[in-house]
Amino acid sequence: MDTRLLFASSRKKSRVALWIRVSALILGVGSLGIVIAKISIPTDPALDQRIDLSIAEAIAPTAPELDLVPQSTNNAPSTKTPSSTASLLNEDPLSDPALTTTLPQTLPTQPTEPAPVATTIKVKSGDSLSTIFSRLGLNYQTVSDVIAVGDQAAPLKNLRPGDQLDVEMTPDNQLLAINYQLAPNKTLSIRRDTNDQFTADKIVLPMETRLATAEGIIDSSLYQSAIESGLSANMVMELADIFGWKINFLTDVQNGDHFRIVYEEKYVNGKRVDTGAVVAAEFVNNGKTYQAVRYTAPNGKTGYYEPNGASLARGFLRYPVAFSRISSKFNMHRMHPLYHKIRAHKGVDFAAPTGTPIHAAGSGKIEFIGWQHGYGKVIKIKHDGGFETVYGHMSRFNNQIKRGSRVDMGETIGYVGMTGAATGPHLHYEFHVNGKYTDPLVAKLPEANPIPSKYRQDFLYQTQATLDLLANDERQASRTAANIVTATAD
Ligand SMILES: [Zn+2]
Repeated sequence: MDTRLLFASSRKKSRVALWIRVSALILGVGSLGIVIAKISIPTDPALDQRIDLSIAEAIAPTAPELDLVPQSTNNAPSTKTPSSTASLLNEDPLSDPALTTTLPQTLPTQPTEPAPVATTIKVKSGDSLSTIFSRLGLNYQTVSDVIAVGDQAAPLKNLRPGDQLDVEMTPDNQLLAINYQLAPNKTLSIRRDTNDQFTADKIVLPMETRLATAEGIIDSSLYQSAIESGLSANMVMELADIFGWKINFLTDVQNGDHFRIVYEEKYVNGKRVDTGAVVAAEFVNNGKTYQAVRYTAPNGKTGYYEPNGASLARGFLRYPVAFSRISSKFNMHRMHPLYHKIRAHKGVDFAAPTGTPIHAAGSGKIEFIGWQHGYGKVIKIKHDGGFETVYGHMSRFNNQIKRGSRVDMGETIGYVGMTGAATGPHLHYEFHVNGKYTDPLVAKLPEANPIPSKYRQDFLYQTQATLDLLANDERQASRTAANIVTATAD
């Protein structure tokens, strides 16, 4: 992402009192690199025992320069595909649609061109491999030949709009190779071999993880301010999830609140292709500072904790649907929109598009699944500690779930709909405590367990470097990590 562009666009908004400073911190292969790898991916525990903070050794300036301006460098994924894949990975999928090549019209009528002809195709709505091949002037036999490669070619049968195909043909319309980018670092390459047969290869490039920081002041909404500071929509949700038990992001956030986060960025061939997990975050709400740090215990369990080791998680989710808006609050004296009389609203309505996944708010046992008057398709879950949750108006259930099933917190139990008495798609969510209807937005929920004492030393050790980054003390962080190169975009 071009942070300068972001900066410029946020400046244009007159009422935005937003300061942005996105700095990308490049990690080499030294100790922090290992620590981060440990945080993001549960790695071999034995490796962590061997982390050596020998600073001199850790200084390893092997990381490539931060590439903030998309360059037209040739990052072919394989030497086997010299010309056709030149455009395959040099396009920044996050920002640069300019390379969306349409099919050159002169292509089929250039018999004098001796070299193979490479074409990049962006899959459009309604496209299939046959329609694309037909536009390219390739015959139907070629489609069957490619599909005949077998399971490996299966992804080509499920092309989605926006996908990219790089096709290489002879000047007389014989398919030589087709490359399909499955993921930022994964390419399916199907190529005609010397026996005139097609064979498939999956090319996987190493994905490098670097840490970046972003910060912003809440001006209009958390979402808007976070997006302006360079965060993705998913990361905003993650931020809201991390602090969901300390701060009610729907009601408590106010102008002037600010945040700072340290997060992972994924790089392939020196280009940023994706963002990863939030590894540390700070949110200052109404003058009070909340901090979180991500930690993976030697047993592989990952969670967000306060720097003192207290868990930030609860045994329950506050919001069973993501990307929703509260359309009706808990209210014992509500005028009902359908019945037009005072009728208590003993739950909270979350408006969300039909099909939005609904998550079990806590782990428990399915007590009821089926149709109930008014509620439409509804699920009731019984949890430990006298809690019960109810999810109404679903369009459909997760078909793996039946009465008596155990579900985990966060598991998808069904999908938003408007079955029963509903004027639009929403989740009607109820929270019962010892049989009493309770407002789920303010209910006190049980805390998850803190860092076990046997992992405490490991926790403090692993989280120190990211906490230093969070504290914006890059000198301290570099003393700790010894190998951080800072590149600021402003
Ligand atoms: Zn409702």
